[in-house]
Amino acid sequence: MEIAPGIYSMGQEEGGHVHAFLLDDGAGLTLIDTLYDDDGKGVLAELSRIGRTPTDVKNIILTHAHKSHLGGLASLKKASGATVCSHDWEVDIIAGRREATRVSPIPRRPLEVYRLQLGLALGLGKHAPCEVDHRLKAGDHIGPLQVIATPGHTPGSLSFWWADRRALFAGDVIATWPEFAPGWPGLTLDNEQNLRSAQQFNDFSNAEVLAVGHGEPIAHDAAKEIRKILK
Ligand SMILES: [Zn+2]
Ligand SMILES: [Zn+2]
Repeated sequence: MEIAPGIYSMGQEEGGHVHAFLLDDGAGLTLIDTLYDDDGKGVLAELSRIGRTPTDVKNIILTHAHKSHLGGLASLKKASGATVCSHDWEVDIIAGRREATRVSPIPRRPLEVYRLQLGLALGLGKHAPCEVDHRLKAGDHIGPLQVIATPGHTPGSLSFWWADRRALFAGDVIATWPEFAPGWPGLTLDNEQNLRSAQQFNDFSNAEVLAVGHGEPIAHDAAKEIRKILK
């Protein structure tokens, strides 16, 4: 679904109403995250719907290395030949050489995500490993995006700003499902740091779109909505 010019949102219920985004800046396609399923079918279906092919995808950018965002990575890399990009800290997890840092199994709100919290606590939910080709850091530019370092949910969590479209891509720093909030405390490694990271989004005071990892994107007046949860 096109939520703004050249911004296509794809979601699935599995993995916590997880979402991924295809960006078309006229020069090629950029994919942010890859949904939960191993076969990448949600992304492939959207590509076909908009009349594009997997090889049109030039970069696959990962917000961080949790299964819900990495599911389709290996298949989509194979189908597209795209350059896979992430923060340095997440590289070994994506490549399958290190497991994602576990969280406590003690339930935290919102309870709708407890199954996912328990999965991360027990080290379940393996993804098909994939090598990262290019490491990103704050201030880098990739495709149409500027890279923002937003550690807290994981140390290598990244967010992105598409200036031309006034769109923020926040990964798991902010969630809109099951409620609009600065992330999911039970799956976030450092909640104070995550909140400080989220507060950087207030600097983007003209943001129109907020696209998050879990839940529907906000397509209008995003800056105003963000201020409501970041007092
Ligand atoms: Zn996550
Ligand atoms: Zn997530």
